[in-house]
Amino acid sequence: MKINLTSKLILNYLLLVLLVFSFTTITILHKLSRESKLQLEDEMVTRAQLISEFIPAELISQGNPKLVQPLIFKIKQKTNSRITIIAKNGIVLGDSESNPETMENHGTRPEVIEALNGKIGYSTRYSFTVLKPMLYAAIPAKTGTGEITGVIRIALPTTLVKYLTVNTLSNLWFGLLLALFLTIILGYISAYFVTKPIRQINQITQNAIRGDLNQKIPVFTKDEIGNLARSLNQLFQQLQGTMSEIKREQNKLTAIISSMTEGVVACDLSGNILLVNKTIENIFSVTRTEVQGKMLLEAIRNNDLDKILNDVLRSGQPQQSELTLLLPVQKTFLIYASPLTSEETPFGAVLVMHDITEIRRLENIRKEFISNVSHELRTPLTSIRGFVETLLNGALEDKNNNRRFLNIIHDHAQRLGKLIDDILELSKIESREIQPNLQPVDLRELILETAESFSPQLQKAKIQLRRQLPASLPTINADRDQLKQVLINLLDNAIKFNRENGSVTIIATAAPDSIKIQVTDSGQGIPAKDLPRIFERFYRVDKARSRELGGTGLGLAIVKHIIEAHQGRIGVESVEEKGSTFWFTLPL
Ligand code: ADP
Repeated sequence: MKINLTSKLILNYLLLVLLVFSFTTITILHKLSRESKLQLEDEMVTRAQLISEFIPAELISQGNPKLVQPLIFKIKQKTNSRITIIAKNGIVLGDSESNPETMENHGTRPEVIEALNGKIGYSTRYSFTVLKPMLYAAIPAKTGTGEITGVIRIALPTTLVKYLTVNTLSNLWFGLLLALFLTIILGYISAYFVTKPIRQINQITQNAIRGDLNQKIPVFTKDEIGNLARSLNQLFQQLQGTMSEIKREQNKLTAIISSMTEGVVACDLSGNILLVNKTIENIFSVTRTEVQGKMLLEAIRNNDLDKILNDVLRSGQPQQSELTLLLPVQKTFLIYASPLTSEETPFGAVLVMHDITEIRRLENIRKEFISNVSHELRTPLTSIRGFVETLLNGALEDKNNNRRFLNIIHDHAQRLGKLIDDILELSKIESREIQPNLQPVDLRELILETAESFSPQLQKAKIQLRRQLPASLPTINADRDQLKQVLINLLDNAIKFNRENGSVTIIATAAPDSIKIQVTDSGQGIPAKDLPRIFERFYRVDKARSRELGGTGLGLAIVKHIIEAHQGRIGVESVEEKGSTFWFTLPL
């Protein structure tokens, strides 16, 4: 059974009241019965003395019951006590309740012995004459000369004493009931006030358990409860400090993990997710709240990731693996998985995902580049070797062909040289080994100068060159040689891939923050499917034709890199059989 503190306190008060009452009652009753007994004894002695006036010692000395008994009857009517007159030899001479002649010798009764010795004798015992417990008081009957002739004894039932005490007790019962009633009322009020701060402490402590540490227990007293409240307030304050510290540390850690570009997933020993960071949310299109607490495989449906996690949890050893995700875009990750331990006890594992897509892409580009370069180099080299062998095998003496073969070898050697020059140029720009040598450049003058240098080719191909240039263009900061290279490459292509009697137009326009240059030709154009890749190294719409025209497939790649190194933009629009427009902008 659950008893609350108020009830316990009231019960204690009641027990205390009962205890005090019992102790007091016993003491009072004990004293009262003694007092009333003494009082009765005094009363009995007084009565005995009065009786001695009516039944003198001289009469008793005659030892004749017939003389005494009638007197006793007379007196009996005036008193409610039992009167017994006993002769010196113990023979009963008169008794108010019985016939003295039938009564035994009373010489041995303790009160009688005492009285015969000249003292007042008292005794309390059961009377077989009247059949109830009696209180006896006996005085000696003395003659005028002081001679003791017998004993006058008065007896009263002990019930008289009891009556007095019981009467008092009934009054006490009433007092007790009143006291108990008041105890309950006052006890309740007192317990209410005693337990009130305890209830308050309990309420605030419960709130603190739920996380509200801002409350303070009001302290009014300096007693134990006050001290408890003060200690608890201190504890809450310290706890709040510690909690804020933990929260700060946690926020720091969360911020660090969140801002990591690597994806981070931490799991417990059963494989349930403890945390994921923003990168993981983005990679797998999940939210932290929906995955937290779930099994890794259930939350992020990826078998490879789950396998790495299980490997590290099972072995307790760091693991490393590569993972390719196909959706939404193909990405490659390097995964480092390490066990998590706290004081050398493992409690889970953490997976860190590095996005190595770009590294892999660059590696592939490099591989592709090397294979392209070797292929491009091998083609002229194979031709050179072939013609040299032909010459060595006798064609050197063939007056009709030897010069032609040597010319072919010369052409291929030149192509090889140009290829190597272009590759070196491109790799220099790409590796940013040579930074643009920025200086003020008059673009209008540069365009005119470059266009002029193409006069022989234009004449040979019967192509008309148009220039739509404003009277003046703002001077820009750029690498003059690199910009000249851009114009050469674009004009060269515009002429090479043009048709007979075609045209090439150079247009320059100035915007507030940039200059735009367009090179438009009336050539064969570029198929739409090739446009997105046209600026890639070695990418050519028609490889054979490009080679025939002395191209390396690197011209546009060089152009693109130079423009980007100048923070500019480059683009192409083309319609097959109509012509192409290559354009680039340069910031002012
Ligand atoms: P190259 O001219 O040495 O072949 P480029 O990088 O300059 O290499 O050009 C790559 C390819 O782009 C060319 O082979 C050609 O197919 C295409 N191309 C470039 N410019 C033009 C143009 N003005 N008209 C049509 N095709 C072009």
